[in-house]
Amino acid sequence: MQKRIYLDYNATAPVLPEVVKKVTQVLTHNWANPSSTHTNGRKAKLELEESREAIAASIGVPARELHLTSGGTEAANLAIIGTCVPRGPGHIICSAIEHPAVMEAMERLQIMGWELDLIPVGFDGVIDLEILKSLLREDTQLVSVMYANNETGVLQPITEVAALLKESITLFHSDGVQAWGKVNLQAKGLDLLSISSHKIGGPKGAGALWASASIEIQKQQLGGPQERENRGGTEPMPMVIGMAEAARSLNVRTNNEVLIPLKKYFEIELKKYFDVIIIGERVKRVPNTTNVLFKGCKQDMLLMGLDIQGVDASAGSACAAGSIKYSKIIFNMGFSKEEASSTIRFSYGISTTQADLAKVVNILKNLVPLRPV
Ligand code: PLP
Repeated sequence: MQKRIYLDYNATAPVLPEVVKKVTQVLTHNWANPSSTHTNGRKAKLELEESREAIAASIGVPARELHLTSGGTEAANLAIIGTCVPRGPGHIICSAIEHPAVMEAMERLQIMGWELDLIPVGFDGVIDLEILKSLLREDTQLVSVMYANNETGVLQPITEVAALLKESITLFHSDGVQAWGKVNLQAKGLDLLSISSHKIGGPKGAGALWASASIEIQKQQLGGPQERENRGGTEPMPMVIGMAEAARSLNVRTNNEVLIPLKKYFEIELKKYFDVIIIGERVKRVPNTTNVLFKGCKQDMLLMGLDIQGVDASAGSACAAGSIKYSKIIFNMGFSKEEASSTIRFSYGISTTQADLAKVVNILKNLVPLRPV
Protein backbone atom coordinates (compact mmCIF):
# COMPACT_ATOMS: atom_id res chain seq x y z
CA MET A 1 0.00 0.00 0.00
CA GLN A 2 1.19 3.50 -0.83
CA LYS A 3 2.37 5.65 2.08
CA ARG A 4 -0.06 8.45 2.95
CA ILE A 5 1.30 11.98 3.13
CA TYR A 6 0.43 13.48 6.49
CA LEU A 7 0.15 17.28 6.33
CA ASP A 8 -1.98 17.91 9.41
CA TYR A 9 0.66 18.38 12.11
CA ASN A 10 -1.24 21.34 13.57
CA ALA A 11 -4.16 19.02 14.33
CA THR A 12 -1.81 16.56 15.97
CA ALA A 13 1.79 15.46 15.44
CA PRO A 14 2.68 11.77 15.08
CA VAL A 15 3.72 10.33 18.44
CA LEU A 16 7.52 10.13 18.68
CA PRO A 17 9.00 6.60 19.02
CA GLU A 18 10.90 7.59 22.19
CA VAL A 19 7.57 8.72 23.67
CA VAL A 20 5.93 5.38 22.91
CA LYS A 21 8.87 3.61 24.58
CA LYS A 22 8.76 5.81 27.68
CA VAL A 23 4.97 5.62 28.08
CA THR A 24 5.10 1.82 27.76
CA GLN A 25 7.82 1.70 30.45
CA VAL A 26 5.73 3.81 32.82
CA LEU A 27 2.58 1.78 32.23
CA THR A 28 4.54 -1.38 32.91
CA HIS A 29 6.90 -0.42 35.70
CA ASN A 30 5.84 2.84 37.32
CA TRP A 31 2.06 2.71 37.52
CA ALA A 32 1.58 3.65 41.19
CA ASN A 33 -0.40 6.69 42.30
CA PRO A 34 2.07 9.57 42.76
CA SER A 35 0.08 10.72 45.83
CA SER A 36 0.67 7.42 47.64
CA THR A 37 3.25 7.66 50.39
CA HIS A 38 4.66 4.12 50.05
CA THR A 39 7.84 3.31 48.11
CA ASN A 40 6.06 2.71 44.79
CA GLY A 41 4.07 5.93 45.16
CA ARG A 42 7.23 7.91 45.92
CA LYS A 43 8.89 6.39 42.85
CA ALA A 44 5.96 7.56 40.72
CA LYS A 45 6.04 11.01 42.33
CA LEU A 46 9.74 11.33 41.57
CA GLU A 47 9.19 10.57 37.90
CA LEU A 48 6.22 12.95 37.78
CA GLU A 49 8.32 15.77 39.22
CA GLU A 50 11.22 15.05 36.85
CA SER A 51 8.72 15.31 34.02
CA ARG A 52 7.41 18.61 35.34
CA GLU A 53 11.02 19.89 35.43
CA ALA A 54 11.61 18.90 31.79
CA ILE A 55 8.41 20.53 30.55
CA ALA A 56 9.01 23.69 32.59
CA ALA A 57 12.62 23.95 31.39
CA SER A 58 11.49 23.91 27.77
CA ILE A 59 9.49 27.13 28.27
CA GLY A 60 11.92 28.71 30.73
CA VAL A 61 9.80 28.63 33.91
CA PRO A 62 10.27 27.19 37.42
CA ALA A 63 8.77 23.70 37.73
CA ARG A 64 6.82 24.68 40.86
CA GLU A 65 4.80 27.15 38.77
CA LEU A 66 3.69 24.57 36.20
CA HIS A 67 0.23 23.00 36.51
CA LEU A 68 -0.29 19.75 34.67
CA THR A 69 -3.65 19.45 32.93
CA SER A 70 -5.52 17.19 30.53
CA GLY A 71 -4.47 19.31 27.53
CA GLY A 72 -4.28 22.76 26.00
CA THR A 73 -8.03 23.29 26.36
CA GLU A 74 -8.13 22.70 30.09
CA ALA A 75 -4.95 24.77 30.56
CA ALA A 76 -6.52 27.75 28.74
CA ASN A 77 -9.81 27.35 30.65
CA LEU A 78 -7.89 27.35 33.94
CA ALA A 79 -5.80 30.34 32.87
CA ILE A 80 -8.89 32.38 32.02
CA ILE A 81 -11.76 31.28 34.24
CA GLY A 82 -9.53 30.17 37.12
CA THR A 83 -7.79 33.54 37.41
CA CYS A 84 -10.67 35.86 36.52
CA VAL A 85 -13.35 34.52 38.83
CA PRO A 86 -11.50 35.56 42.04
CA ARG A 87 -10.82 39.00 40.51
CA GLY A 88 -14.12 39.96 38.99
CA PRO A 89 -16.39 40.73 37.39
CA GLY A 90 -14.61 43.22 35.19
CA HIS A 91 -13.31 43.64 31.69
CA ILE A 92 -11.46 41.09 29.52
CA ILE A 93 -9.94 41.20 26.04
CA CYS A 94 -8.84 38.56 23.55
CA SER A 95 -8.01 38.47 19.85
CA ALA A 96 -10.77 37.76 17.34
CA ILE A 97 -8.91 34.67 16.11
CA GLU A 98 -8.51 32.66 19.32
CA HIS A 99 -9.01 28.91 19.41
CA PRO A 100 -12.34 27.85 21.01
CA ALA A 101 -10.34 26.74 24.08
CA VAL A 102 -9.84 30.45 24.80
CA MET A 103 -12.86 31.98 23.08
CA GLU A 104 -15.42 29.82 24.84
CA ALA A 105 -13.79 30.44 28.21
CA MET A 106 -13.98 34.20 27.57
CA GLU A 107 -17.62 33.85 26.50
CA ARG A 108 -18.38 31.88 29.67
CA LEU A 109 -17.06 34.82 31.70
CA GLN A 110 -19.24 37.13 29.59
CA ILE A 111 -22.30 35.09 30.62
CA MET A 112 -21.11 35.55 34.20
CA GLY A 113 -21.27 39.34 33.84
CA TRP A 114 -17.85 40.21 32.46
CA GLU A 115 -17.45 42.66 29.57
CA LEU A 116 -15.55 41.16 26.62
CA ASP A 117 -13.82 43.05 23.81
CA LEU A 118 -12.17 41.44 20.80
CA ILE A 119 -9.00 42.73 19.14
CA PRO A 120 -9.50 42.64 15.38
CA VAL A 121 -6.82 41.37 12.99
CA GLY A 122 -5.96 42.65 9.53
CA PHE A 123 -5.68 40.75 6.22
CA ASP A 124 -2.28 39.54 7.38
CA GLY A 125 -3.79 37.88 10.48
CA VAL A 126 -1.90 40.01 13.00
CA ILE A 127 -3.73 41.78 15.85
CA ASP A 128 -4.05 45.55 15.70
CA LEU A 129 -1.95 46.87 18.61
CA GLU A 130 -3.41 50.38 18.35
CA ILE A 131 -6.91 48.99 18.82
CA LEU A 132 -5.72 46.89 21.74
CA LYS A 133 -4.30 50.08 23.31
CA SER A 134 -7.65 51.84 22.87
CA LEU A 135 -9.56 48.92 24.41
CA LEU A 136 -7.50 48.72 27.61
CA ARG A 137 -9.28 50.03 30.72
CA GLU A 138 -8.40 50.39 34.37
CA ASP A 139 -10.54 47.36 35.17
CA THR A 140 -9.17 45.15 32.37
CA GLN A 141 -8.29 42.02 34.35
CA LEU A 142 -7.00 39.78 31.58
CA VAL A 143 -5.80 39.94 27.98
CA SER A 144 -5.42 36.70 26.04
CA VAL A 145 -3.55 36.66 22.72
CA MET A 146 -2.43 33.41 21.13
CA TYR A 147 1.27 33.03 20.33
CA ALA A 148 0.65 31.50 16.90
CA ASN A 149 -2.61 30.88 15.12
CA ASN A 150 -3.57 27.26 14.52
CA GLU A 151 -4.96 27.81 11.01
CA THR A 152 -2.57 30.36 9.54
CA GLY A 153 0.55 29.88 11.65
CA VAL A 154 0.78 33.67 11.96
CA LEU A 155 2.80 34.75 15.01
CA GLN A 156 1.34 37.51 17.15
CA PRO A 157 3.31 40.47 18.60
CA ILE A 158 3.55 38.95 22.07
CA THR A 159 6.52 41.07 23.22
CA GLU A 160 4.71 44.26 22.23
CA VAL A 161 1.51 43.23 24.06
CA ALA A 162 3.58 42.33 27.13
CA ALA A 163 5.23 45.77 27.03
CA LEU A 164 1.80 47.46 26.85
CA LEU A 165 0.57 45.59 29.92
CA LYS A 166 3.77 45.75 31.94
CA GLU A 167 2.79 48.50 34.36
CA SER A 168 -0.86 47.47 34.71
CA ILE A 169 -2.78 45.05 36.93
CA THR A 170 -3.91 43.21 33.80
CA LEU A 171 -2.89 39.55 33.52
CA PHE A 172 -1.50 38.47 30.15
CA HIS A 173 -2.26 34.94 28.98
CA SER A 174 -1.00 33.43 25.77
CA ASP A 175 -2.19 30.19 24.21
CA GLY A 176 1.18 28.77 23.22
CA VAL A 177 -0.16 25.46 21.88
CA GLN A 178 0.74 26.08 18.23
CA ALA A 179 4.05 27.78 18.98
CA TRP A 180 5.64 25.21 21.32
CA GLY A 181 8.38 23.39 19.45
CA LYS A 182 8.01 25.55 16.34
CA VAL A 183 9.55 28.73 17.71
CA ASN A 184 11.59 29.34 20.82
CA LEU A 185 8.53 29.66 23.08
CA GLN A 186 9.44 31.37 26.34
CA ALA A 187 7.14 32.61 29.09
CA LYS A 188 9.11 35.86 29.57
CA GLY A 189 6.80 38.89 29.70
CA LEU A 190 3.69 36.76 30.23
CA ASP A 191 1.73 35.92 33.37
CA LEU A 192 0.11 32.75 32.03
CA LEU A 193 1.07 30.39 29.22
CA SER A 194 -0.76 27.24 28.10
CA ILE A 195 0.72 24.35 26.10
CA SER A 196 -0.35 20.94 24.84
CA SER A 197 1.50 17.63 24.54
CA HIS A 198 0.09 16.22 21.30
CA LYS A 199 1.24 19.06 19.07
CA ILE A 200 4.89 18.20 19.76
CA GLY A 201 4.78 14.44 19.40
CA GLY A 202 3.57 13.58 22.89
CA PRO A 203 0.37 11.73 23.75
CA LYS A 204 -3.06 13.38 23.58
CA GLY A 205 -4.66 14.19 26.91
CA ALA A 206 -1.83 16.12 28.55
CA GLY A 207 -1.02 19.79 28.71
CA ALA A 208 0.20 22.40 31.13
CA LEU A 209 -0.49 25.87 32.39
CA TRP A 210 2.34 28.02 33.62
CA ALA A 211 1.09 30.66 36.04
CA SER A 212 3.41 33.12 37.71
CA ALA A 213 3.61 32.26 41.45
CA SER A 214 1.82 35.39 42.68
CA ILE A 215 -1.38 34.69 40.72
CA GLU A 216 -4.41 33.39 42.56
CA ILE A 217 -6.12 30.56 40.72
CA GLN A 218 -9.56 29.23 41.52
CA LYS A 219 -9.55 25.49 41.02
CA GLN A 220 -11.90 24.50 38.18
CA GLN A 221 -11.58 20.72 38.35
CA LEU A 222 -12.78 19.98 41.84
CA GLY A 223 -11.38 17.09 43.84
CA GLY A 224 -8.13 16.26 45.59
CA PRO A 225 -5.30 18.63 46.48
CA GLN A 226 -3.12 17.82 43.46
CA GLU A 227 -1.26 20.50 41.47
CA ARG A 228 -0.73 22.79 44.48
CA GLU A 229 -4.48 22.56 45.17
CA ASN A 230 -5.24 24.17 41.81
CA ARG A 231 -6.48 21.07 39.98
CA GLY A 232 -8.10 18.03 41.51
CA GLY A 233 -7.57 14.54 40.13
CA THR A 234 -4.83 11.91 39.98
CA GLU A 235 -2.20 13.11 37.55
CA PRO A 236 -2.33 11.23 34.21
CA MET A 237 1.17 9.81 34.73
CA PRO A 238 1.74 8.07 31.36
CA MET A 239 0.51 11.12 29.40
CA VAL A 240 2.56 13.57 31.41
CA ILE A 241 5.69 11.45 31.23
CA GLY A 242 5.17 11.09 27.47
CA MET A 243 4.76 14.84 27.19
CA ALA A 244 8.01 15.38 29.10
CA GLU A 245 9.83 12.96 26.79
CA ALA A 246 8.54 14.90 23.77
CA ALA A 247 9.66 18.15 25.44
CA ARG A 248 13.15 16.70 26.00
CA SER A 249 13.31 15.76 22.31
CA LEU A 250 12.38 19.23 21.08
CA ASN A 251 14.95 20.89 18.93
CA VAL A 252 13.55 24.05 17.42
CA ARG A 253 16.72 24.85 15.52
CA THR A 254 16.95 21.45 13.80
CA ASN A 255 13.22 21.54 13.04
CA ASN A 256 13.57 24.94 11.45
CA GLU A 257 16.54 23.84 9.35
CA VAL A 258 14.24 21.24 7.81
CA LEU A 259 10.95 23.13 7.77
CA ILE A 260 11.90 26.60 6.53
CA PRO A 261 13.31 25.38 3.17
CA LEU A 262 10.31 23.04 2.81
CA LYS A 263 7.88 25.89 3.31
CA LYS A 264 9.73 28.08 0.82
CA TYR A 265 9.76 25.30 -1.79
CA PHE A 266 6.08 24.44 -1.32
CA GLU A 267 4.84 28.02 -1.49
CA ILE A 268 6.90 28.82 -4.62
CA GLU A 269 5.49 25.73 -6.33
CA LEU A 270 1.91 26.55 -5.35
CA LYS A 271 2.22 30.10 -6.69
CA LYS A 272 3.85 28.82 -9.89
CA TYR A 273 0.91 26.60 -10.87
CA PHE A 274 -2.23 27.99 -9.23
CA ASP A 275 -4.08 31.25 -8.63
CA VAL A 276 -3.58 31.34 -4.87
CA ILE A 277 -3.09 33.61 -1.89
CA ILE A 278 -0.74 32.35 0.79
CA ILE A 279 -2.40 33.57 3.95
CA GLY A 280 -0.07 35.71 6.09
CA GLU A 281 2.69 35.47 3.49
CA ARG A 282 4.23 38.82 4.37
CA VAL A 283 4.28 38.43 8.16
CA LYS A 284 6.10 36.18 10.61
CA ARG A 285 4.69 32.66 10.72
CA VAL A 286 5.68 29.37 12.32
CA PRO A 287 7.87 27.38 9.93
CA ASN A 288 5.51 24.45 9.35
CA THR A 289 2.23 26.02 8.21
CA THR A 290 1.04 27.02 4.75
CA ASN A 291 -2.57 28.14 4.56
CA VAL A 292 -3.59 28.55 0.94
CA LEU A 293 -6.60 30.27 -0.56
CA PHE A 294 -7.34 28.49 -3.86
CA LYS A 295 -9.42 31.11 -5.65
CA GLY A 296 -12.79 29.81 -6.88
CA CYS A 297 -12.34 26.36 -5.29
CA LYS A 298 -14.29 24.74 -2.44
CA GLN A 299 -12.29 23.46 0.48
CA ASP A 300 -14.47 20.38 1.08
CA MET A 301 -14.06 19.22 -2.52
CA LEU A 302 -10.30 19.81 -2.37
CA LEU A 303 -9.94 18.00 0.93
CA MET A 304 -11.93 15.06 -0.37
CA GLY A 305 -9.82 14.93 -3.55
CA LEU A 306 -6.61 15.08 -1.54
CA ASP A 307 -7.81 12.45 0.89
CA ILE A 308 -8.75 10.02 -1.89
CA GLN A 309 -5.25 10.45 -3.31
CA GLY A 310 -3.52 9.80 0.00
CA VAL A 311 -2.99 13.28 1.42
CA ASP A 312 -4.16 14.30 4.90
CA ALA A 313 -4.73 18.07 5.13
CA SER A 314 -7.39 20.18 6.80
CA ALA A 315 -9.49 23.31 6.54
CA GLY A 316 -10.29 24.46 10.05
CA SER A 317 -13.90 25.26 9.27
CA ALA A 318 -16.72 24.18 11.53
CA CYS A 319 -19.77 22.84 9.81
CA ALA A 320 -22.94 24.69 10.77
CA ALA A 321 -26.18 23.17 9.56
CA GLY A 322 -27.71 25.02 6.61
CA SER A 323 -24.82 27.44 6.14
CA ILE A 324 -21.77 27.25 3.89
CA LYS A 325 -18.68 25.89 5.52
CA TYR A 326 -16.05 28.55 5.92
CA SER A 327 -13.15 29.32 8.19
CA LYS A 328 -14.12 31.81 10.92
CA ILE A 329 -10.47 32.72 11.32
CA ILE A 330 -9.98 33.61 7.66
CA PHE A 331 -13.35 35.42 7.65
CA ASN A 332 -12.31 37.43 10.74
CA MET A 333 -9.17 38.48 8.85
CA GLY A 334 -11.42 40.38 6.42
CA PHE A 335 -11.89 37.79 3.66
CA SER A 336 -15.40 37.06 2.32
CA LYS A 337 -17.27 33.89 3.34
CA GLU A 338 -16.70 32.65 -0.21
CA GLU A 339 -12.94 33.15 0.13
CA ALA A 340 -12.94 31.72 3.64
CA SER A 341 -14.46 28.54 2.21
CA SER A 342 -11.59 28.14 -0.28
CA THR A 343 -8.65 27.74 2.09
CA ILE A 344 -6.68 24.63 2.93
CA ARG A 345 -4.20 24.32 5.78
CA PHE A 346 -1.13 22.26 5.07
CA SER A 347 0.93 21.74 8.20
CA TYR A 348 4.05 19.64 7.98
CA GLY A 349 6.74 18.28 10.27
CA ILE A 350 10.19 16.83 10.59
CA SER A 351 9.29 13.67 8.68
CA THR A 352 7.84 15.55 5.68
CA THR A 353 10.07 15.59 2.58
CA GLN A 354 10.32 17.82 -0.47
CA ALA A 355 9.26 14.79 -2.55
CA ASP A 356 6.04 14.58 -0.47
CA LEU A 357 5.25 18.22 -1.20
CA ALA A 358 6.09 17.84 -4.90
CA LYS A 359 3.63 14.96 -5.00
CA VAL A 360 0.94 17.06 -3.33
CA VAL A 361 1.43 19.81 -5.93
CA ASN A 362 1.03 17.21 -8.69
CA ILE A 363 -2.15 15.86 -7.10
CA LEU A 364 -3.50 19.42 -6.84
CA LYS A 365 -2.94 19.87 -10.60
CA ASN A 366 -5.88 17.49 -11.09
CA LEU A 367 -8.08 19.27 -8.56
CA VAL A 368 -7.39 22.99 -9.05
CA PRO A 369 -7.51 24.97 -12.34
CA LEU A 370 -3.98 25.74 -13.53
CA ARG A 371 -2.82 29.33 -13.71
CA PRO A 372 -2.85 30.71 -17.25
CA VAL A 373 0.77 31.10 -18.46
N1 PLP B 1 -5.17 26.10 21.36
C1 PLP B 1 -4.81 25.95 20.08
C2 PLP B 1 -4.26 27.12 19.34
C3 PLP B 1 -4.95 24.72 19.44
O1 PLP B 1 -4.59 24.58 18.16
C4 PLP B 1 -5.47 23.63 20.19
C5 PLP B 1 -5.68 22.32 19.56
O2 PLP B 1 -5.99 22.23 18.39
C6 PLP B 1 -5.83 23.84 21.54
C7 PLP B 1 -5.66 25.08 22.09
C8 PLP B 1 -6.41 22.73 22.38
O3 PLP B 1 -5.42 21.83 22.80
P1 PLP B 1 -5.84 20.34 23.25
O4 PLP B 1 -6.19 19.60 22.02
O5 PLP B 1 -4.62 19.78 23.93
O6 PLP B 1 -6.97 20.48 24.20
